[in-house]
Amino acid sequence: MSLIEFKEEGLFCPRANVYIDPWKPVAKAIITHAHADHSRYGMKNYLAHPWSIPVMKHRLGQDINTQALDFHQSISMNGVKIMLHPAGHIPGSAQVSLEYKGEKWVVSGDYKLENDGISTPFEPVPCTHFVTESTFGLPVFDWPEEEVLEEQMHRWRASLVESQKVGVVYAYALGKAQRVMKTMANTGARIFTHAAVERTNECLEHNIELPDRTEFNSDLKKEELQGNIIIATPGSMGARWTKKIGPHETASVSGWMRMRGTRRRSNVDMGFVMSDHADWKGLNTAVKMTGAEKVFVTHGYTEVYSKWINSQGINAEVVKTAFGDEKEEQNEEQKELK
Ligand SMILES: [Zn+2]
Ligand SMILES: [Zn+2]
Repeated sequence: MSLIEFKEEGLFCPRANVYIDPWKPVAKAIITHAHADHSRYGMKNYLAHPWSIPVMKHRLGQDINTQALDFHQSISMNGVKIMLHPAGHIPGSAQVSLEYKGEKWVVSGDYKLENDGISTPFEPVPCTHFVTESTFGLPVFDWPEEEVLEEQMHRWRASLVESQKVGVVYAYALGKAQRVMKTMANTGARIFTHAAVERTNECLEHNIELPDRTEFNSDLKKEELQGNIIIATPGSMGARWTKKIGPHETASVSGWMRMRGTRRRSNVDMGFVMSDHADWKGLNTAVKMTGAEKVFVTHGYTEVYSKWINSQGINAEVVKTAFGDEKEEQNEEQKELK
């Protein structure tokens, strides 16, 4: 019996009788993070990091059964030692380790290695079996350093002040929005948040500190908005309120901005290469740091990435899952927020 099996409902640990991020309703689920493709409806019980729980309740219903487990604390399920470790993806995001008789599996969920200043930074967990995502598993995906990204945002904000325009940043409500908020607040800009973003902020604020901001409303004067930043979800792009805020520029934040032509196709004025996922280098570093003898590659460029890992002398295999890539994640988010 393998410690983890890949079943129709999701990743399953038969000995502990628990699923990790299942996509079909099951009795017991461990949730790596609160994004819609990992945290779904219909589970009888949800085990997650305490920061994820308010967001999950907001999205899935206040009456779901939840149990919180902090990073580095362990519980035992039928002799299997289970722990959560920081994944650095979004606030509360965790890798799950399952350990039994010398075999140790780590299911990473989604992760990134950069410290975004909001999420608890990624920690490598030595293991025998590592289940990794591969959303950006191609060499072309190479993220700029955080300082470079900050510098770009500072420059953009300065140009908005000069042209007396409003900056509208489209970022998804959980993770990106808070990261943008923090960086933009550091530029001295006043921050306005759209409703869907603000509801998520409220959930996160039970546990983490977020910058001062004002919820956007259509009574705000143009002068108040000029040179400042509105953060909204991509779903509100082109919505009626954007016609009433006066001259403005739009921006998108995504790992896909690294691909030529993405900004133009997305119809925005600015594209910031900012992702919640590991880039090519990050994936490789993470895989190596685990020291795993066997790697399972889930969502993203699975075929390419597992071939590459195999060529590096580590046994790798593709696993089909129902997790989305960054864009699908975003779409899922929007469905939920509507
Ligand atoms: Zn995610
Ligand atoms: Zn994902």
